[in-house]
Amino acid sequence: VNKIAILTSGGDSPGMNAALRAVVRTGLYFGLEVYGIMRGYSGMMEDDIFQMDSRSVANIIQRGGTILKSARCKEFYTAEGRAKAYANLKKRDIDGLVVIGGDGSFTGAMKLQAEFGIPVIGLPGTIDKDLYGTDFTIGFDTAVNTAVEAIDKIRDTADAHDRLFIVEVMGRHAGYIALHSGIATGAETILIPEASTNMDDVIASLSEKEKRKKLVNIIVVAEGDAFGGANEVAKVIKERLPKFDTKVSILGHIQRGGSPTCSDRLIASRMGYHAIEALLAGKSNVMVGIINNEMSYTPLEIAIREKDIIDEDWLRIVKILAS
Ligand code: ADP
Repeated sequence: VNKIAILTSGGDSPGMNAALRAVVRTGLYFGLEVYGIMRGYSGMMEDDIFQMDSRSVANIIQRGGTILKSARCKEFYTAEGRAKAYANLKKRDIDGLVVIGGDGSFTGAMKLQAEFGIPVIGLPGTIDKDLYGTDFTIGFDTAVNTAVEAIDKIRDTADAHDRLFIVEVMGRHAGYIALHSGIATGAETILIPEASTNMDDVIASLSEKEKRKKLVNIIVVAEGDAFGGANEVAKVIKERLPKFDTKVSILGHIQRGGSPTCSDRLIASRMGYHAIEALLAGKSNVMVGIINNEMSYTPLEIAIREKDIIDEDWLRIVKILAS
């Protein structure tokens, strides 16, 4: 490997810049030429590619978003689109690619690798923590901390007015943001895609609390919860428990932005460094992850396909602590 390119793609996440900085500087350290591709696969297609030096990534470790920008690119789903995009790498003799993104971005990278043989390394850049083969994804910790801060504030007003708040956090297929932020804010219950939502149980538990005059409650719902998100849950609760003053709050995109936490900067730096080491060691088609504080390299296909199992223990703990 002599010349590598890097891109950020799909949903942005805080810490992508820190990862980018690590990849660029480690690449340069090992004598590689490093190219930045703007707007993910769109920029690869449109030849929006530029050579990077150490200064191009100065003063970005603390910034959310991504200086390379991100995009969703329809054309890349087709073989012709990918051929057109690859031609722009080929003409610069780029012979390695680092993709920071989520499962969609990894699927695109895998196809590029299969069709043109270019080695690709994936870095898990997603707030959802929905990739298999790593204990952390870049941006998850920041998103959870943002959610915790917001839910703490909601609790103040819930407490002042004796309200039941149903707070929806991000997570279409993975409930980790809901699980972690819910536990950390003392939620009454947490509804996530990985566990079936039994509204009868939720109602029973709230009725019991109502009898004890415990009217201040927070329910944290992942947007991809099987029941259909916070608004659907609220509908049922309002109907069946009219005594509760029930409000919905959907946190939305604030969870994507902001300065990355120390933890996200650390894992981004570490993963970025190891992305280059992996390329130099001849690895390809793998996602760099961290498991039990050791680096791990999971085939992209498995990182996308396999699912973590959420420990039932956590849900039990939620129940016991919320009594
Ligand atoms: P994320 O990486 O966050 O999951 P997306 O699913 O939007 O985000 O994927 C980002 C981009 O990756 C897409 O816009 C597309 O260009 C590319 N991509 C996603 N899935 C595929 C696929 N099946 N084949 C080829 N390219 C894909």
